[in-house]
Amino acid sequence: MSSPLLELKAVSRTYTSGGEPLTVLREVSLVIQSGEFVAIMGASGSGKSTLMNIIGCLDKPSSGTYSIRGLEVANLDGDALAALRRDTFGFIFQRYNLMSDLSAVENAEVPAVYCGMAKAQRAAHASDLLRELGLGDRLQHHPNQLSGGQQQRVSIARALMNGGPVVLADEPTGALDSQGGKEVMAILVKLHGQGHTIIVVTHDTDIAAYAHRLVRIADGRITSDEQQQKGEADHQAKTGETARDTKPGVAVLGESLKMALRSLVHNRLRTALTMLGIIIGVASVVALMAIGNGAKQDVVERIQAMGTDLLTIMRGPPAVRASADVVTSFLPEDLPSIDGVPGVAMAVPETTLSSLLRFGDQDLTVAVVGTGEDFPQVHDWPPQSGVFFSAEHVKRYAQVVVLGQTTAKNLFPNDTSPLGQYVLIGSAPFLVIGVLSSKGLTPRGDDMDNSAWLPYTTAGARVFGQRFFNDFVVRVKPDADMSVVQANLHTLLMKRHRKEDFNIRNMADTIATANETQNTLTYLLAAIAVISLVVGGIGVMNIMLVSVTERTREIGIRMAIGARGFDVLFQFLTEAVMVCFIGGVVGLVVGVGGGLATSVIAGWRVIFTVAPIVIAFACAFLTGIIFGYLPARKAARLDPIEALARD
Ligand code: ADP
Ligand code: MG
Repeated sequence: MSSPLLELKAVSRTYTSGGEPLTVLREVSLVIQSGEFVAIMGASGSGKSTLMNIIGCLDKPSSGTYSIRGLEVANLDGDALAALRRDTFGFIFQRYNLMSDLSAVENAEVPAVYCGMAKAQRAAHASDLLRELGLGDRLQHHPNQLSGGQQQRVSIARALMNGGPVVLADEPTGALDSQGGKEVMAILVKLHGQGHTIIVVTHDTDIAAYAHRLVRIADGRITSDEQQQKGEADHQAKTGETARDTKPGVAVLGESLKMALRSLVHNRLRTALTMLGIIIGVASVVALMAIGNGAKQDVVERIQAMGTDLLTIMRGPPAVRASADVVTSFLPEDLPSIDGVPGVAMAVPETTLSSLLRFGDQDLTVAVVGTGEDFPQVHDWPPQSGVFFSAEHVKRYAQVVVLGQTTAKNLFPNDTSPLGQYVLIGSAPFLVIGVLSSKGLTPRGDDMDNSAWLPYTTAGARVFGQRFFNDFVVRVKPDADMSVVQANLHTLLMKRHRKEDFNIRNMADTIATANETQNTLTYLLAAIAVISLVVGGIGVMNIMLVSVTERTREIGIRMAIGARGFDVLFQFLTEAVMVCFIGGVVGLVVGVGGGLATSVIAGWRVIFTVAPIVIAFACAFLTGIIFGYLPARKAARLDPIEALARD
């Protein structure tokens, strides 16, 4: 003998909420065969809904067993129960439980979403069902545009969407007038005629009279169970499930995206404010990284502009900066031997000190550089007018000066040619013999044209009062090996100075150092930006938690009509990710726009690279998943009964 459709054996249900345990069902045993039309009657509070929720797998017995087609419900996991609610049972509630954001068709469609039916097929089937129920002209109406009876018919269509072999109606007429109630009962009678098993809960004898079997319940116990005399309808029992679990994935994804978008549009202001955090985060990552990259490129180019085949010999042992000042061993006597190193094209000493220049009543503090006659060739920096001083000038301690562009402009504002004029440096007069061409900024951003160059002999004797130099700058021959020359210079100076009181830098080192500094800065900016993304993510989480609380009832409905925990989780996760995704796109646009605006307004160079954009975007996406997960999981774990009870 095959198992009965539904079989309850000594089922009890005890609620433990609120201190004392409350036993609502006491050892209820009930067998319902396929194709029956059963009314469950009892006074309010007698346990009818509790029984119905157990039958519909929304709730589980505290003790006793409940089997569906011989399969014990206690042994089924959450997904299997969801599948039963989706494919076997069709719920009709007293208060319809339609989703107010959805049209009649969309409401009826929902159970089919969770079994993976394609959109077009779903909509067609839902429309057919609604037409059969006399709602052909109300398909696109929303629940608040429908009467109670019409809403209840939409909910019946929803119950039948996946076939609904077992229709569970908990006081389906309770909220309707007598006419509406009769119409609903007529539909249930018709469905019974078509082979559906109908279980209807009521406290109304007139309603119960439609059923073929009447089960009375009082205080949690079955007090009577009898067949009512009726011309037994000639029908085929409907037991099979129609749409079986195919691949819910795609349909659920599509539906989740639509629901998410709808919810976001519905709460426009809230969504916009939530997104703000993400927008600011992504925009700042993109813009700051572009600005940082631009600055870095600028520095590299400035360093390269100074010449790539230069070696700078600086005072002080490597990596000990502070000791530079006490080193006095860089002397003119070093120069000939440096020049003699193979591969060295030429070398100049350089000592730079800030000094006061005076012409007429103009006072100007500039960087005064004491150097050799080869300075223009070493630095590839020719005079624009006049000449640079010669070896002869150096030898004779000549009081001549060459000015930089900025110095010349500031000292001679009214277009007078500086050439042939005398300027005072300290207390000594110097004849201006040349003005160098413009060189721009140093890697640090100082104006290299705000300088004046003197023969190192004169500078040492008359301005600085010191014989020793700060640096030597060496130009290496184009065909020479940089590192070999560097090593030879090292050996030479070790021999001459007898200790390592110098360090030799090549351009590659300098660029690497500058890059390091810039990278540190860029990462710092990126860290700040990431922090703002995290703050944005917390905002998303907060608003999602609010959303879950607000929509608890909707979640309950969805679960009652077949959504698995995963479906609910996915829906809320989709919403969180969508907020972050849209925020990411807007942030990207704002970031690129902000970067470009900065370059136009402040004149900074900005360089957009793909990596930070991808990273910022991925961060926004991950933020959605990470910060959306908790609220989504909270939603997925809701108890359908409690969720449904929420207003
Ligand atoms: P009916 O549907 O017959 O009116 P219910 O099955 O809804 O009755 O409820 C039966 C009893 O169980 C009532 O006394 C009710 O207060 C109690 N009850 C129902 N749900 C809960 C719950 N979640 N927690 C505690 N008590 C509950
Ligand atoms: Mg009830």
